[in-house]
Amino acid sequence: MKTYKAALRKYYKQGIAKHVEHAKLCFYCGCEATDMDFCPPLEHAELILEFDEQADFITVPSCYECFALLHNERVLNLDARVKKLKAKLADKYAKALKVYYMWHESELDEMSPEFAHSISAGMALGQEAATRLAFVPFALESDEAEFNKPSAKQRFVVAGHEFSSFDQAMAHCFENFGVNKSKFYDLLVKECDGDFDKALSQYNHRFSKPQTLDIAKTKIQNFAKQHKQNSDFVARATEQLMKKDAKLDIDAALAKLYQDYIAR
Ligand SMILES: [Zn+2]
Repeated sequence: MKTYKAALRKYYKQGIAKHVEHAKLCFYCGCEATDMDFCPPLEHAELILEFDEQADFITVPSCYECFALLHNERVLNLDARVKKLKAKLADKYAKALKVYYMWHESELDEMSPEFAHSISAGMALGQEAATRLAFVPFALESDEAEFNKPSAKQRFVVAGHEFSSFDQAMAHCFENFGVNKSKFYDLLVKECDGDFDKALSQYNHRFSKPQTLDIAKTKIQNFAKQHKQNSDFVARATEQLMKKDAKLDIDAALAKLYQDYIAR
């Protein structure tokens, strides 16, 4: 049963600027704060508690833009959240930052008015972005959250096996199903609502193809080595052969390549 999102707010401490000069500033970039960022996001809180994952459970003042950039990002700790925000900000303003670092006011005089205007606007935007990127988050003080956090889930089922902790259930998946840790974790927590079986089936559905490709790649490399051929050539040639004749699999294509081109 899903807990109503608002009910989870009580598990967060409220982070407030320790010094008065920082009051009303965005914790992430120093602009005026208008919103409150939940670390980790409320959307993900229930599963994080059930899985007993390490998270900060704190709210910080945030400007509208940082709030929007971080919206729903499943980043659980405040330090990591700052890093994430800065990376997204740098990405969003990459063009303006480049203009700001490349041009100087003195150069504007030599340009046509339209060009000078657009460069100067870009420089102003880039300068603002640079200041926000360089902003160092201020010290916080926080009142303790009112409630003790609910205890983690005690029963995790994976393909008929039962585990008493999230970590054990995850370990079982890595050891027995050969899943890629971070891909599987993302699927589990972001799309499958913590349902291991659903995540495993989704995982196989989505990522089983690359595995076949990996096997083909290995076969091509071995073949190239064995017959002293360039592996790019072998890859291109087998691809052509398989395109021409849909019945050929990688083994048959390599055999044909050998017969038609190499053994002659
Ligand atoms: Zn901000």
